[in-house]
Amino acid sequence: MNEEFNYIVLAVPFFVLLILLEVYAAYKRNMKGYYRLQDSLTSLSIGIGEQVISVFSKVGVLYLYSYIYEHTAIFQLEFNLLNVIILLFLFDFIFYWAHRWGHEVNFMWAGHVVHHSSEDYNLTTALRQPWFFQLITFTLFLPLAVLGFDPKILAVVAGIDILYQFWIHTQLIGKLGPLEWVLNTPSHHRVHHGSNPQYIDKNYGGMFIIWDRLFGTFEEENEPVVYGITTPLNSWNPAWANVHYFVDLSTPSPKVQ
Ligand SMILES: [Zn+2]
Ligand SMILES: [Zn+2]
Repeated sequence: MNEEFNYIVLAVPFFVLLILLEVYAAYKRNMKGYYRLQDSLTSLSIGIGEQVISVFSKVGVLYLYSYIYEHTAIFQLEFNLLNVIILLFLFDFIFYWAHRWGHEVNFMWAGHVVHHSSEDYNLTTALRQPWFFQLITFTLFLPLAVLGFDPKILAVVAGIDILYQFWIHTQLIGKLGPLEWVLNTPSHHRVHHGSNPQYIDKNYGGMFIIWDRLFGTFEEENEPVVYGITTPLNSWNPAWANVHYFVDLSTPSPKVQ
């Protein structure tokens, strides 16, 4: 299997199966409005669009990563379990900062905002992946090539880290005891999607929540979450959801009198 293989595509049947199970579970629990057709279709279209765009963008990203690896790698790190685990922590650490800056830096928020503009929170929200954000953040992962992690091991670890984040987009799973100390869980990630004042800019972790605990961005889920962004998108258009904030940024704001 070569390093250009997209592990996300392999998981699509599991995504579909789990979404259908969640729809059924929500129906059985009488959770009206948990899945809204328009919102789910918008999230799914955004996910499909992201996969199509990434077919092209990944070629350039992998070429650059491989070039840097071949010309600057300090070590030649073997593809073994220990190195996969080490890289998982390093990858997730960089993910934490990329994600945090995706909220704190205005032009990066323009790329990431689409993941947050749904006012629902279910497994389809997980597929609501930005089309352009990775084009901004992938540079932050290039030091891993300099360290000596080859593109194959990076593809596996990135696959694990990103796929992990699918199942945490649900309201049907409560708190998970000691796992909450270390891992990013449905409860922690619900907080991240909240627009309640105390939940804004919290819980950026990908697979682990330890970075938030270390760097002061952790917040416990202790009141019901209001999902979405503070200025609603008011659109089901997947392309507009990806570009609206870039348009806002490039439009001069009227002078305050
Ligand atoms: Zn976010
Ligand atoms: Zn999310």
